[in-house]
Amino acid sequence: EQAASEGIDWKCHDPSQLEDSAWRLSMLSQLNAAIDAGDLWVAYQPKYDVATRMIVGAEALARWTHPDKGPIRPDIFIGAAEQSNRIEKLTLHVLEDAVTTTIAMRAHVPDFVMAVNLSAKLLESTRIVEQVRDILARHGLPASGLILELTETAALGSDSQSLSTLHALRGLGLGVAIDDYGTGMSTLDYLKRVPATEIKIDRSFVQSLDGQENDRLLVSSTIQLAHLLGLKVVAEGVERREALDILQRMGCDLAQGYLLSHPVAKQILLAKVDPTPLRSAA
Ligand code: C2E
Ligand code: MG
Ligand code: MG
Ligand code: MG
Repeated sequence: EQAASEGIDWKCHDPSQLEDSAWRLSMLSQLNAAIDAGDLWVAYQPKYDVATRMIVGAEALARWTHPDKGPIRPDIFIGAAEQSNRIEKLTLHVLEDAVTTTIAMRAHVPDFVMAVNLSAKLLESTRIVEQVRDILARHGLPASGLILELTETAALGSDSQSLSTLHALRGLGLGVAIDDYGTGMSTLDYLKRVPATEIKIDRSFVQSLDGQENDRLLVSSTIQLAHLLGLKVVAEGVERREALDILQRMGCDLAQGYLLSHPVAKQILLAKVDPTPLRSAA
């Protein structure tokens, strides 16, 4: 299982992918076709209840395996897709797969909740509200089974159109998470304006939890603040047992990270909760 999940995190990528702008352009022109060809797929990283250590949800993470170039880093093709008009098609593709997966997971974990990353760019139009409602309705998933994750650094707080789109999405009954919480700017402003249901503490605070007294203070006070505001807290990037134990003592609700599971293919996620994993792999 571990071997099967490795290789999905693309740790050994080609660093020249970052600089080569000709490559970026040609990659972008291939993105639509890649989605149609199935080269763009979705990995799932389980989210665990810190107290029970059971799987209660997962985060959908886009993966692109290029036929010649091999795996392309998400931060590269997501960024490129955001700068063009490709992000909508990509997001709907991920949402469709994620909702299907959620239905399958709910056969084993009835309250399973799926998180999908949403580019703030898609909040600039209200179209996304109908699109999300339509996908949920077609698959029969209640909105409470879906969380949309927003990266804090996106310039959201000042844009009233984006905020009203976000309120409309919340109005459907789904959850909203502030991703990478603690990085970027205007943290308190964000908490005040964004109709969030959950914050995800950035892994830069989580990784050194067992060594850094400062990080412990920042994380524990953040958990307390979030709970006072009625928000759930997810710790991302949990890589060590010691960090997970500290998070449990602090009352953190959920955790994700390589210690618990790497992002894995849908079949492997299912096998983690399906008592007859061979049947679903067949
Ligand atoms: P994110 O949403 O903050 O996702 C968490 C990232 O941390 C993922 O990287 C995940 O593989 C990685 N990670 C998880 N556990 C650990 C750990 O224990 N240690 C370390 N070092 N890393 C860990 P990934 O998959 O490369 O994704 C990078 C970013 O790309 C995501 O950050 C998200 O912002 C974006 N992204 C991925 N898929 C989508 C998508 O479908 N739509 C949008 N808009 N953005 C996406
Ligand atoms: Mg995320
Ligand atoms: Mg994150
Ligand atoms: Mg991130």
